[in-house]
Amino acid sequence: MQQNSSGDGQAMAMAKHIGSGIRKETFIHQEVQDKGRRRRRPTAAVSLPFSLCSDGEELRHDGEDSDREQQRQRPAVTDGDLSRRRTAISLSSIFYFCSFPLLMGGSTLTFVLLMGGFHPSTRHPFHLFVSSKAPTRTTRMDNDGLKPMDAEQLRDYGHQMVDFIADYYNSIESFPVLSQVQPGYLRKLIPDSAPNHPESLQNVLDDVQAKILPGVTHWQNPNYFAYYPSNSSVAGFLGEMLSAGLNIVGFSWITSPAATELEMIVLDWLGKMLKLPEHFLSTGQGGGVIQGTASEAVLVVLLAARDKALRKVGKNALEKLVVYASDQTHASLQKACQIAGIHPENCRILKTDSSTNYSISPDLLTEAISHDLGVGLIPLFLCATVGTTSSTAVDPLLELGKISKSNEMWFHVDAAYAGSACICPEYRQYLNGVEETDSFNMNAHKWFLTNFDCSALWVKDRNALIQSLSTNPEYLKNKASEANMVMDYKDWQIPLGRRFRSLKLWMVLRLYGLENLQCYIRNHIQLAEHFEALVAQDPRFEVVTPRIFSLVCFHLLPHHNNEDDGNKLNHDLLDAVNTTGKIFLSHTVLSGKYILRFAVGAPLTEERHVNAAWKLLQDEASTLLAGDPVE
Ligand SMILES: *Cc1c(COP(=O)(O)O)cnc(C)c1O
Repeated sequence: MQQNSSGDGQAMAMAKHIGSGIRKETFIHQEVQDKGRRRRRPTAAVSLPFSLCSDGEELRHDGEDSDREQQRQRPAVTDGDLSRRRTAISLSSIFYFCSFPLLMGGSTLTFVLLMGGFHPSTRHPFHLFVSSKAPTRTTRMDNDGLKPMDAEQLRDYGHQMVDFIADYYNSIESFPVLSQVQPGYLRKLIPDSAPNHPESLQNVLDDVQAKILPGVTHWQNPNYFAYYPSNSSVAGFLGEMLSAGLNIVGFSWITSPAATELEMIVLDWLGKMLKLPEHFLSTGQGGGVIQGTASEAVLVVLLAARDKALRKVGKNALEKLVVYASDQTHASLQKACQIAGIHPENCRILKTDSSTNYSISPDLLTEAISHDLGVGLIPLFLCATVGTTSSTAVDPLLELGKISKSNEMWFHVDAAYAGSACICPEYRQYLNGVEETDSFNMNAHKWFLTNFDCSALWVKDRNALIQSLSTNPEYLKNKASEANMVMDYKDWQIPLGRRFRSLKLWMVLRLYGLENLQCYIRNHIQLAEHFEALVAQDPRFEVVTPRIFSLVCFHLLPHHNNEDDGNKLNHDLLDAVNTTGKIFLSHTVLSGKYILRFAVGAPLTEERHVNAAWKLLQDEASTLLAGDPVE
């Protein structure tokens, strides 16, 4: 990879290599009115967000903090203030237009203003030049409003925001789980352009309540059973908050040594909890890194594998590289192949069926590889899954690992969802064979109480990643990196900038502890077992694949056992239950059959929610079947 130290060299070089990354940042300025809302200050350990095995009690001290109360008495900007300010603006405009002939002498200025696109009716830019008492300046923010940063304002408004969020969780069951709005609903409710003047936080929160929450699908609602869960937790939230508070950009060790070092340590911790092989730990040749998503994880390891292979066989061999996966592999692999320049005709999608419970057949893989070798292609990469997205199928890692090894392929395992369960000894068996892999990924942001986003990736050979993704522009050079004494995570990922995400994972691991996390997983699996038993008791329904983790795949049987009828029936059933807003399920298709997915995993879900969901499914099924009489 060439070195490039010019302006945008780092990004350009990376883009040339793989495409470009996107970074999202938000900064909101607003003027805030104090409302003196009740607040509480939690002082004790965080309790698990579920009832089964939480032994820590959440202690709270109610009451107000008087000195902070005084700070909240600061005068707020009132409507009166605003109208006085508007009057001042108007007066300064009149003054400007009266002195227009004088200014005509300075026609260059007028020209510049017009060229600059300033419409004569736009008052602010003009009075900047003509009124020394202008109430608004471009260089200083309004003192009465929200400052870019002010510790006491942060404390005050931060408390208000935490109260708002806590109230949200208190009332979360009152919202329809699946948002019931129509496309484009929000344009009608929100102004066309951003405000010129600050608004109060209360106004904004009122809008959140009235306009935003109706358009939210409530992933944390205990009646959420769709896709896979995306857990939030008190610990994860606190970590996210701290990370937002410090707001560092930890691309190199030097930019915040703690961010790099904590990430290495915490991923070693999690790697040990999962009993990953030693070579995945940072003490060896490998190590862990937090990616934003499983999609980024598979992309970066595919790039590492590609470049490692091209170094060996020559860079013109790109069109010969073959990637293997199954028809159950997550679509993120396909996207990764597109970005990495793998030729579409070299993506082998192995067929699966119910005979292997939708896992990859090692025989089919061997056959495909022999065929490819026979026509001069080069096997590059195998992606196996532990817990597929459709049905939690588990590919046989041990056998696939042997095949990968003998063909010198990079072997990646995607355990985005089910990886979390493997911290329990009774589920660790599904990772047997992980010793044979080159990289392993699990999403802490799915089922591991870590707020989105936090995707843990481990690689056996970190140099492969670094050789593929590192750049070394002048403006980032520093002593520690040059001396090779440190890890620079910018070289393990697509973007340069990176958040301090290890904080929230560290919080989750420390504030809950391994045993509680195991209980958390087991509780959800038991609830899924319970749901599976309920389905099995109703002869109108069928459990479609054996349940392994906390997902139940099932469907309603049509009267005449006609596949088309069955697909429509189940589609209609899904639609019917989801439009009630009471629960939210999603679907998949397995062997041509439309299947309903019931994924237990929201932190607040209890048995009563599962029972109510099942009752609703039964009731809606009865209604549908009544309209579809037996002929
Ligand atoms: C959810 C999921 C993904 C995608 O996860 P992102 O982090 O959103 O990219 C990939 N693979 C599997 C098996 C998944 O379940």
